[in-house]
This record gives sequence, C-alpha cells and structure tokens, in this order.
Amino acid sequence: MKKKPLGLYIHIPYCIHKCGYCDFNSHPIKRDEMDHYIDALVLEMKHYAKIYTNTNIIKTIFLGGGTPTTLNAFQLERILKECVNEFTVASDAEVTIEANPATVDVKLMKSIRRTGYNRISIGVQSFDKEELKLLDRAHGPNEIHSTVDCARKAGFDNLSLDLMFAVPNQSIASWESNLNKAMEKTPEHLSTYNLTIEQGTAFSKLQSNGKLIMPDDDHQLELYKTTIEYLTKKGFNQYEISNFSREGKECKHNITYWKNSNSLGIGAGASSYMDGTRFKNINLPAHYIRQVKEKKTAVEHSETLQPRQAMGETIMLGLRLLQGISINEFEKRFQVSFINLFKNTLQSLKEKELILIEDNFLRLSKKGLFLTDSVILEFI
Ligand code: SF4
Repeated sequence: MKKKPLGLYIHIPYCIHKCGYCDFNSHPIKRDEMDHYIDALVLEMKHYAKIYTNTNIIKTIFLGGGTPTTLNAFQLERILKECVNEFTVASDAEVTIEANPATVDVKLMKSIRRTGYNRISIGVQSFDKEELKLLDRAHGPNEIHSTVDCARKAGFDNLSLDLMFAVPNQSIASWESNLNKAMEKTPEHLSTYNLTIEQGTAFSKLQSNGKLIMPDDDHQLELYKTTIEYLTKKGFNQYEISNFSREGKECKHNITYWKNSNSLGIGAGASSYMDGTRFKNINLPAHYIRQVKEKKTAVEHSETLQPRQAMGETIMLGLRLLQGISINEFEKRFQVSFINLFKNTLQSLKEKELILIEDNFLRLSKKGLFLTDSVILEFI
C-alpha cells in the first residue's frame, strides 16, 4: 500500500522573553522541566508512530515554537533521532527548525545542521534598532547578523527570514530599508507578516490605554504592496499571501497546512488535522508533561469536521496560495461538483473581479489579493 504523505510539527514552548505582541503558546524557560518535556515529546511520538508508521510517510518536519533553540544540541538531536526511529520519514524530507537571534552560537548551529535539520527559519522581525525595541524583542540588530552568519557558516543553504511590517511609526522608506537589509543576507525564503494586536497580549493593553497607535489600514496596504513590488523585482516568487521564495524553496511544510492536508502536531498546544478530524493538545507544558506521562497523549479538544465545514476550510486555506485551489483535487477529495456547489458565489466574485478560474484552478485576482478576508468569507 502506498503510504500517505504527512507533515509533522513539534512544538517547543520555551522563550527567553515574552514579546509584547506574542499570543503563541510560549512560556519562560525552565531548565529543570525541559528534559521532562523532551521525554514527553518522545512518548507522544511513540504513541502516534504506532498508529501512523505503516500508513503514512513524513515528508516534512517542523520544529517550531516558542523558541526551539532554547534547547541544547543534545536535546535537539534527540528529538530528530526519535522522529526518524519511530516514524517512516522520507529520505529527502524538509526538516525545518525555527531559531531566534540571541539564542544560538556557531557551535549549536553546526550541531543542528549535522544532526539533519536542513532548513532554518530565523525570527528577525526588523533590522532597525528602534523597531526591535518597540516590538519588545529580546535582541538587537547585531544578534541578527551574527545568527544569520552562524547559520551560513554551519552550512544551512535553505534559510528563511521572518519580517514584520506595520510596526507603529514605520514609514515606507524604513520598511524598504528592512527589506534591503534582508536582501543582503541572500535568504532563500522570506515571510512578511503585518503586526496584529491580539487580545490578552501586552500590546493589546497598551493599545487600549492609548499608548500604542497602529498604522491605519491604507498605510498597512501600502506597506504590503511595497513588499510585493520590492520582492518581485528582486526575483522572489510570491507563492502565498505572506510568503516569498526563490524557485523551489517554498516552505513545503506550510504548504501542507494551506492545502489542508494531513498534519500531526506533537507537544504542548500543538494542533493536528488527520483525515477530517482536528485535535489540539493542552497548552501548559507542565500539564502536557503530566498528561502524556499518564495517558501517552494530551489532547484537550477534538472535532470531526462535517463535509461542508471541511470544504470551507480547504477553500479558506487554499486561497492563501497564489496558485489557488485545484478544482480537480477538490472534487476528488469531497466527491462534489465544485462549480455547482459554489455557483452563485463564484458568479458574484467573478463579476467583482476578485477571483479567477484558469486551467481548472480557482485563485484570487490581483484585486482579490488585497481583499482576501472578504473573498474567503463568501465560501464559508
Ligand atoms: S520569540 Fe516568538 S514565540 Fe517567543 S515570545 Fe517572542 S514572538 Fe512569541
């Protein structure tokens, strides 16, 4: 039997500092807890490996966080070795690790690379000292330069940088200066997200006290348009709303999510989507560890999607990809006629010139790209 492809996500929930805008599942470093955390990851992996090893092949592994590089070389090596021992992992699997400046040196980088991590994603956010302070990051520009240099010296030839725009007071010129500095690092991939204020974060409190003023929507749109124009001119391919890459260097792991394909999440707060059912683990690392040690899993919520719900989510995620959604694949997957099911929606969006249907793919038009959220809502 042909094994089905699977993306494996592993969450490392520790950070050296909580950034003011962060609503990810991240917690302060607890050195005495971290070995227990890895033990729990291994137990959870073994549990799922028993279910999926014979039917699935892992094509991508993504160690995200939090900050995975808060772990030491031995711990990072152990995680990857256990994955390979327990699951069927493709020999050409993309294996990404997220790293934050100020948490790595060249020795750790070399060890990570040697262990088998072959793609690195560095959380830069900004090259500007003042913006980094405003973003409440734990590092300055110097640490960014040394982290990228260390990664290159260690032999990472698939390197992604995360940048953030729509930072308060950011002009088009200062954003372009950030993009220029990113180009000097010759990354293979760039993720550019606009700063959003999430409820419950320190930034949300500042905003409600009038101490944080976000750029207006028009300026945010200008910054986004500048990003697309600038990176396209530099030869990057925009393959997703917020992601750009050199040819063949798209993030295969994230494409798994955007195609709403099977993905298994291990670790505190990790989410999975397997064969129409999604489930999510407990957030708090200590609770996660306790529960996995008792029951082998730490699922706190599970939901099997109704077909119409799964279709809506597949469209919502798929439209983020610039290539769009393959109508053939959609129809094969859900056993419905796409055109009949969404006849009125497609007609109205086409009239407004927000979508295109070409070569049996549905995708956003250039105009639709700047109105993604409202287009997607029409399908849900
Ligand atoms: S480094 Fe990333 S995960 Fe950690 S607190 Fe900052 S934004 Fe959140």
